[in-house]
Amino acid sequence: MKILGIESSCDETGLALYDTERGLLAHALHSQIAMHQAYGGVVPELASRDHIQRVLPLLNEVLSSAQCDKTEIDAIACTVGPGLAGALLVGTAFAYALGYALDKPIIPIHHLEGHLLSPLLAAKTPSERPAFPFIALLVSGGHTQLMQVNGVGDYVLLGETLDDAAGEAFDKSAKLMDLGYPGGPALSRLAEQGTPGRFNLPRPMLHSKDLDFSFSGLKTAVLTVVKQECQRGELDEVTKADIARAFQEAIVEVLVSKCLQALKQTGLKELVIAGGVGANKQLRAALNTACARRKVQVHYPDLQFCTDNGAMIAFAGALRVQAGLADLPLHQDYRFTVKPRWNLSSL
Ligand code: ATP
Ligand code: MG
Ligand code: FE
Repeated sequence: MKILGIESSCDETGLALYDTERGLLAHALHSQIAMHQAYGGVVPELASRDHIQRVLPLLNEVLSSAQCDKTEIDAIACTVGPGLAGALLVGTAFAYALGYALDKPIIPIHHLEGHLLSPLLAAKTPSERPAFPFIALLVSGGHTQLMQVNGVGDYVLLGETLDDAAGEAFDKSAKLMDLGYPGGPALSRLAEQGTPGRFNLPRPMLHSKDLDFSFSGLKTAVLTVVKQECQRGELDEVTKADIARAFQEAIVEVLVSKCLQALKQTGLKELVIAGGVGANKQLRAALNTACARRKVQVHYPDLQFCTDNGAMIAFAGALRVQAGLADLPLHQDYRFTVKPRWNLSSL
């Protein structure tokens, strides 16, 4: 069965074709980062308009690289939430129109379910996939959550951030040091050159007994250090790198510690990392060390599928079909709606 995936919840238009027998056939992505850079953040109206221009050419690109005709598509999986309403509407309207024209069913997908299941896409064979139940740490631009994943569509929230998401903390801290937008990857590259220990930043909620996080205080602590250093003179590259290092060490320590706490609390031995911050090298290294010591298996998405993409949406659609959750109707009702706010546990 061939499933087309469509992602347009924020600033990436992603399309992909996943075959339940042969795996991922093709995927194509357009990131709007360059367009939003001038504004220092995503401008929703510009995002929607750009999705409109990209979605059809990207579909054609996917079909031609998979050497498939659109009539070979069996079902269309599409992100219907959460995200920017206008951006979601573009991908969703396109999906339903295409489904109506081709007489194919639609599988509405929760964006975070796409992220959450993306590490399973990295396994070469289904037997190498992490087995349910497992712990998932979702660390993206908009979310930081620890979930217990009991199966496809069965997600129990164990803890989450009370304020900023981890990716948001990366981006905001990067902005304080003029590292561009979105600054997470740039801050992380800079941190690699930094000297640990020169600055000491707080580890928010490290010792709280729950599995919640809080990162806005960490960002404020970065601001305080930046201001202090600016008062002494210009913020040089070495100082920026040392601040970046201190920030990254703090956030990584908290994330790793809460993952271990979740594993201990549930007695589970498999951990899955998902979302853009899952691309962070220091986080991966720290998790690998901590997990190896505790005989815990840790799984990551391919680097290219950590941030938003169509492949994870097509794949989530395929897993829903295989789990009997897709509810593929013989006569689809093509009325649709999007869900800008949507709780994953409610699936
Ligand atoms: P959500 O999925 O919660 O709606 P999103 O789709 O915007 O949010 P993602 O695309 O999963 O989030 O991830 C983007 C975030 O990941 C950004 O905040 C970005 O700075 C961060 N990020 C990407 N690469 C790295 C890295 N190597 N180190 C740290 N942060 C990173
Ligand atoms: Mg994005
Ligand atoms: Fe995302």
